[in-house]
Amino acid sequence: AASGAGARVVRYDASLEQRLTQRATIAADLRRGLTAGEFHLLYQPIVELPHGRTVAVESLIRWSKDGRTISPAEFIPVAEDTGLIVELGAWIIDTVCAQAAAWSRRHGCDALRSIAVNVSARQLLDPGLVDVVAGAIARHGIPAARLTVEITETAVFAGGRALATVNALSALGVTIALDDFGTGHSSLGLLRICPVDAIKVDKSFVDGLGGGPQQEAIVIALTGIAETLGLYTVAEGVETAAQARRLHELGYRYAQGFHFARPLPPAAIDDLLDQQVTT
Ligand code: C2E
Ligand code: CA
Ligand code: CA
Ligand code: CA
Repeated sequence: AASGAGARVVRYDASLEQRLTQRATIAADLRRGLTAGEFHLLYQPIVELPHGRTVAVESLIRWSKDGRTISPAEFIPVAEDTGLIVELGAWIIDTVCAQAAAWSRRHGCDALRSIAVNVSARQLLDPGLVDVVAGAIARHGIPAARLTVEITETAVFAGGRALATVNALSALGVTIALDDFGTGHSSLGLLRICPVDAIKVDKSFVDGLGGGPQQEAIVIALTGIAETLGLYTVAEGVETAAQARRLHELGYRYAQGFHFARPLPPAAIDDLLDQQVTT
């Protein structure tokens, strides 16, 4: 290999080009995968404290390709950049509503209070999103409030139309949850301008539980804010029994995380709901 400054420049260009090529390859592959039915959804329980009963679920997408499962962190950004998220997102929303209807038929309509779907920045900028959501809840006969749309602060601030879309979704009656709460620049400010029903307290704050007053300050402060504003809170990324206990002590009612359950295939949620009836 060549040496010196020139070689470093060449190597940098090559890796940039590699990244761009990789991106284009993933984009083409995403399109193919969508038609080939390679995507599926897992559902992670959201439980009520302290007993840990599943009261809601969050849908999380996976891509199975060549016997390998690809994480959304790898392909959602590419789907966003290429606009493919709009088509993929419509499939996700329809699939989630169909699944909610199936669980409701099988376990009774009170078995799950809500089923959440993640919506990204690019989707909020799409003028068709509200019709996609309205169409899916009507087609599958889901009460609007049972569908929770999880948005992030970054997504709401992504552009002019995003906030109007959130308002229109809220007017449909769907539940709006602010995801990764506390990680953005204006999380609290957003609560004033956006019709939020729930906040999902980010894992990074849950990680600090048990670490003393400074580490716990935000988790504690958020309960007061949520109560004043009439929002419900979900603590994300709960990995230990100690964290779950501490959340309950601090007045948290809902939690989600590997301590309770990993994201699961629909049949495993069926088993869980069957078991809960008998306990
Ligand atoms: P998110 O919405 O914040 O989802 C929570 C992520 O944390 C999930 O990762 C979940 O598996 C993981 N998680 C849950 N409990 C724990 C825990 O106790 N410990 C740890 N370490 N992790 C936990 P996942 O499924 O890989 O999804 C990553 C991100 O990809 C999501 O973050 C969301 O932003 C995005 N995403 C996933 N599914 C979809 C989708 O259907 N549509 C869109 N637009 N984005 C999605
Ligand atoms: Ca989420
Ligand atoms: Ca609302
Ligand atoms: Ca989150």
